[in-house]
Amino acid sequence: MGGKHYYCEYCDRSFKDEAGVRKKHLASIQHVKNRENHYRQFRDPKQILQEELAKKPCKRFLNNGECHFGHLCKFSHCPPYYIQQLQAAVAASEQAKHQRVYPEPEFIVKEFFDSALDPEELVEENLNPWPLSDEYKEFENSLPISMRPMTLKDFDSADFAEWGKQ
Ligand SMILES: [Zn+2]
Ligand SMILES: [Zn+2]
Repeated sequence: MGGKHYYCEYCDRSFKDEAGVRKKHLASIQHVKNRENHYRQFRDPKQILQEELAKKPCKRFLNNGECHFGHLCKFSHCPPYYIQQLQAAVAASEQAKHQRVYPEPEFIVKEFFDSALDPEELVEENLNPWPLSDEYKEFENSLPISMRPMTLKDFDSADFAEWGKQ
């Protein structure tokens, strides 16, 4: 291999790097088609659909499967099934845009329990899971027993197994 080459990523081909060759390649129908196809795949389906619906069907392409104008053709090369797929893709993306996505219920439950404080840790650190609300703070020591905040200690003697039995 002698001389410099340039690689066209749209066409996946290498060429001799000479101004004339390069220019000729860039102007070739095959290159323009490949380049169009390359960008087409990153475009919004809604935009493609609108463009295709605005064109009349290309009889040449739809009858013979070939039209040398490629994507530059002023008529649409999209067969009806492709239009339907585009419409479905547009509908799905519109729906996703307008719909809040809710997590699965199992996920919410798992999330809740994963983030909940571990009662054993609370006892160890002597934290109160039911702190007195701020408005009662200043009366804390004069509150009647029924209004005092419960602490974990209050449950030390509670026999949960007996609850509900009279
Ligand atoms: Zn090319
Ligand atoms: Zn055409």
